[in-house]
Amino acid sequence: MIIRKSKYQIGLMRTAGKIVADAHTAMLEAVKPGVSTFELDAIVYKLIISNKAIPTFKGYRGFPASICASVNEQVVHGFPSKDVILKEGDIISIDIGATYKGMVGDSAFTYKVGKVSEEVEKLLKATNDGLYAGIAKMVAGNHLEEVSGAVEDVALQYKFGIVRQYGGHGVGASMHGDKGPILKPGMTIAIEPMFNLGCDEVHTLEDRWTVITNDKKPSAHFEHSVLITENEPEILTDRGWIFQ
Ligand code: MG
Ligand code: MG
Repeated sequence: MIIRKSKYQIGLMRTAGKIVADAHTAMLEAVKPGVSTFELDAIVYKLIISNKAIPTFKGYRGFPASICASVNEQVVHGFPSKDVILKEGDIISIDIGATYKGMVGDSAFTYKVGKVSEEVEKLLKATNDGLYAGIAKMVAGNHLEEVSGAVEDVALQYKFGIVRQYGGHGVGASMHGDKGPILKPGMTIAIEPMFNLGCDEVHTLEDRWTVITNDKKPSAHFEHSVLITENEPEILTDRGWIFQ
């Protein structure tokens, strides 16, 4: 069930979303060859705390960090580490959550480390396109299935793999053969397509967190927290910049 939020809660979610957006803007600067994912995590931790918010992921079911840092074939839930040093041509999906007065902002972006291959560039563009195709369908009166359907159409169009286990909080509804709930003003939904360069299939490593693609080809992950309104959807984690 997706609970409709009060005006007061929506206000808090806007603040949480802004903190997450600012943390991503900091990552846009910080991601470069030679930096460790541990350093990136420290930057985000400080930024969230200095904004009087709490890193949502830290301590969640024992997760040790403020960001999920998933490099190349890692899909989601990678641990930041001093031993993971980014190098030219890598991609890194960074997922950030901030809780402000009990309300959460949640957003992910896949960053290029220096210059990446043409096919990886295309993968990032496709996943970002998938995210925004889904958001365009997040209109009151639509079924959630129309959102996941729009995302899936983009993956099919580009012939990329799509991860069906985690499509979004609710955004996997089409798998179950029903249309999912009808979207109503005041609902907030995180939509988070993950597209793979190769196959759809993924699995979790022995650390019980890190998800990787079965064929070890790169994966991309883009996510926004979105508010359904009477009119256009409102992206609560909008950064003011998009994929380029
Ligand atoms: Mg997330
Ligand atoms: Mg999420």
